[in-house]
Parts: sequence; C-alpha cells; structure tokens
Amino acid sequence: MCVINSGISANPRLAIRHAFRPRSLRHRLLYVKFNAVIAFFFFLFGIVIGSFLNVCISRIPEGESVVSPSSRCPRCLAPIKPYDNVPILGWLWLRGKCRNCALPISPMYPIVEFLTGIFFLLTYLTFDVTLPTFKWLIFGCLLIILMVTDLRVRLLPDAVVWPGFGLGLAFATRIPPVDGTAMGLYIRAGFRHLPPYNGYLFGLLDALLGAALGSFLLWGAAAAYKIVRKRDGMGMGDVKMMAMVGAFLGVRGAFLTILLGTLMGSIIGVAFIVGLYAYGWKLDLARRANRRGLGPINTLRWTIVSQYQIPLGTFLGFAALLVVFTLPYIDSLLPR
Ligand SMILES: [Zn+2]
Repeated sequence: MCVINSGISANPRLAIRHAFRPRSLRHRLLYVKFNAVIAFFFFLFGIVIGSFLNVCISRIPEGESVVSPSSRCPRCLAPIKPYDNVPILGWLWLRGKCRNCALPISPMYPIVEFLTGIFFLLTYLTFDVTLPTFKWLIFGCLLIILMVTDLRVRLLPDAVVWPGFGLGLAFATRIPPVDGTAMGLYIRAGFRHLPPYNGYLFGLLDALLGAALGSFLLWGAAAAYKIVRKRDGMGMGDVKMMAMVGAFLGVRGAFLTILLGTLMGSIIGVAFIVGLYAYGWKLDLARRANRRGLGPINTLRWTIVSQYQIPLGTFLGFAALLVVFTLPYIDSLLPR
C-alpha cells in the first residue's frame, strides 16, 4: 500500500514518459528534440540563477543587501556594464579582468554559474517538469550558496540556513520527504485509526524528524570531536545546516548525508592537510617559531598544518545533492 506520494521515491519521469510514449519514428524524433530543447533551457536558466547565487555568495557574509546596488567590481566598486554582466561569457571576454581597474575577477563567478546550470540540467533529467523539481531546485540553490560560502570564508550564514529550514518545512507539506518514518512511529505507537490520515501533517512530521536527527547527530559528532581533540572541530553552522537538510530530505536522507559528507570530508580533508604539509605550507612560520625555541621544526609544521579548518559544510552540501539524485534509484532497488 502506498499512501504517501514521496517527492523522492515517486518517479514522475516514468509516468510522463508513459503518457507521451512516442508511437512512430517521426513522433519519436519530435519527442527527442522537444526534450533536448527543454533540457537546454533548464541549463540556461540555471546559469542565470547561478549569477544571482554569486551575488548572494559574495554579499550575504558581509551583511549586504542582495538586491541593491547592482553588480559592482569587488575591488574598485565600479558598476559592471550590462553588456559585461552576461553570465560566464562576460567573464570570458573580459579575460577575468575588470574593465575599469584591470584587476583580476575571481574565476569563482563563471564556475558557480556553470555548475548551477549543470545542476538545473541534472534536476530536469532526473525529475522532469514536476513539483518535486521545483523543490529540489530551491534546495540545490540554498546548498550551492552554503557550499561556496563555507569554502570561501568558513561561514554558513544564518540568513541562508533559517529561511532554508522554513522553506524545507513548507515544501514538506506538499512534497513530503518520505521516509514514512512519522507514519511508522504513529502506527507502532498503537494509533492505527486516530486521527484520519493527513498527508500534510505526516510530511511536516517527517521533515521535523529529519531536522532533529540531522542536527542531533552532527551535534553529537562535534561534541565527541571536542572531547577527543580538545578543541572545536566544527561550528554550530554545520549543525544548523543539517536541520535545513533534514527538513528537505527527512530522516533517511539526513542520515545518508551525514554519513557521506563526513566520510568525504575526512578522507579529502586529511589528504589535503597531508598535501599542505608536503608542499611546505607556512614553512616560514614554523622556522620562525623554531628559532624562538618553541620546539622541533617538523612538530611545529604539523601543529600549524592541522589548524587548517576543513569546510565540512561544503562536503555536507555535496553529499545532500548526491542523496537527492541517487535516492530515487536506491528506493527503486529496495523491496516494497
Ligand atoms: Zn574593478
């Protein structure tokens, strides 16, 4: 019995494919062309949205408005001309330099635009034009802002996380992050019949359970880290971010996200720190400390290198996106 229509586990693409199944060769060619055109528009739309995400990424940590003033050069503050403000292409034909001051403009801008375009394209290819598509696009945009902001300045701004959490709860009433965890708990508690089944309520409950589990697990991991290493390993930002992720993905999705995110974060993070050591990161600092008699040089180098803070939020965000795109397939493999 399937009473809950999950945003993740339902495969709307198959349903639509079935309804519009091409019946002749000509029909089939038209169908392929039509799909390609829509996919291309999703990609273009993603690039344009990516350009707005860049504005959020560069302004929200500074506490600036994302609406006004219009785009400026981050160095000389000269307004960017409309014809230079074309996503990706503008950066390419300016060869990554400001037209006014000729100082370099970060390649982050075209990269974020391009990746947002790819994300929109993938979302269309996985979920087609459906309500879940809308939910996952919003979720992905929030994650992209958080991932890049964490990577740049090691911040997961409340101004993104809390509205994101609210949006996750709101979406859960229409497109539940099911699981079915709330329903399972309800039945197990013995309330088989009362109150009558309410999709909105159970969707919301699943989102709240996901948020609670996600933030609690990460908070526990942070507390354990603090006991073992005797210093803060992750901020409360990651814990709050997991509340948002849990509200969108539910219990199972939040659990998978933490598993994948912390695994990738520790493997890639440790490899990066070893790399920093091997390439002599802050070697001068270690030499100076050594001359002052603070200890042997290699011990000092390890101490400095291990201070490097791994952007856990970036890895959690990437893991959450992987969960969005793989859960429908994992779901279809599980026995019903
Ligand atoms: Zn400039």
